[in-house]
Amino acid sequence: MNDKIIEACVPEVVKCVHCGKCRAVCPTLDVLGWDNYGSRGRMILAGEIIRNGFDPDETGLNSIFTCTTCKHCTTVCPTKAKVPEVMEMTRSILVGRKKHPDIHRVLYERVEKLGNPYDEHKDRLWWIPDFREPEEAEVMFFVGCTPTYRTVEIAKSVVKILDGLEIPWTFVRDQKCCSSPLIRTGWGSITTDHNIEKIIETAEATGADTVITSCAGCYKTIIQDYPIEDLDIRIMHITQYLAEKLEKGEIELPQKPGLRVTFHDPCHLGRHAGEYDAPRKVIESMGVDLVEMEHNRQSSWCCGAGGGVRIAFPELTEKIATKRVNEARAVDAELILSACPFCVYNLRVNSQDIPVRDIVEFIAELM
Ligand code: SF4
Ligand code: SF4
Repeated sequence: MNDKIIEACVPEVVKCVHCGKCRAVCPTLDVLGWDNYGSRGRMILAGEIIRNGFDPDETGLNSIFTCTTCKHCTTVCPTKAKVPEVMEMTRSILVGRKKHPDIHRVLYERVEKLGNPYDEHKDRLWWIPDFREPEEAEVMFFVGCTPTYRTVEIAKSVVKILDGLEIPWTFVRDQKCCSSPLIRTGWGSITTDHNIEKIIETAEATGADTVITSCAGCYKTIIQDYPIEDLDIRIMHITQYLAEKLEKGEIELPQKPGLRVTFHDPCHLGRHAGEYDAPRKVIESMGVDLVEMEHNRQSSWCCGAGGGVRIAFPELTEKIATKRVNEARAVDAELILSACPFCVYNLRVNSQDIPVRDIVEFIAELM
């Protein structure tokens, strides 16, 4: 295991020429102010851990585990060093040495035992008890753990939109966590194969040719971490699905003219998956006044929650999220929209004055 990790990691580690260009964009360095907590410091440390077996102390461990894996550094890096991937692989080496935040082991145990990282024992169907599998479906909704157990209005909104647009849908009854929290924190991907098999089986049984998800983290994980190269099925974020329908003139969305909204690009949808336009097309189709924050699209500022940081370092996450909300205040936004339940949840608890909604909630509330 470690040999494979080293083989994959070393070429990326040596790409870092320590130029420091990434210092200006790292959200954790911005808060903590010490090079240890920025991409350059992390890459130097990761190189020592991976190549020389260096045994980091608590400060070193915090350096590796406070990276949100937002990928902002890679976008400005002259050599395009894959810092998030190096962090994930370095974390898996450290997990193998039993050196990690204790709470990450708890996450792993919850996912292994319950299929979700939230310690929830409720059935996946709790929020939609009258669900009946359709004979035929056009799309399969991969709900994700956060909409199921923490932001259920987002899951309900997706269903309201699909029903309202008369799009037949289904979903996987015994769905498990997509494994994103485990992969990002170095704990591997125990449920990955199970999920992809279930997705394919369910889709094939109903004729659905598209899997949609409202979660940017699930979306990135399924398209980039799952073995799906030869799949005859499309995996789409719901904003991509709706944008495509809008372009084809197949749907119209409710209007809210004059409302001043801004959009927070989730790192997993934007920088990781390269999708910036679809959510904006959906928002603009609703007649609102879309204003961009100082950091947007490829330079979007992370919400601070990813990479297992929120659960292990909540104060750091709060400070990063507060900076992002302040950017929305600076452009006088009346509403912050995003396209990821994890970002929405995190920005919402850190925004006292500006409401925060997922795009699907915004649509569904107007339907
Ligand atoms: S910008 Fe790239 S090469 Fe420069 S210090 Fe950061 S990670 Fe290393
Ligand atoms: S991925 Fe984000 S948090 Fe991690 S080092 Fe790069 S800029 Fe910093």
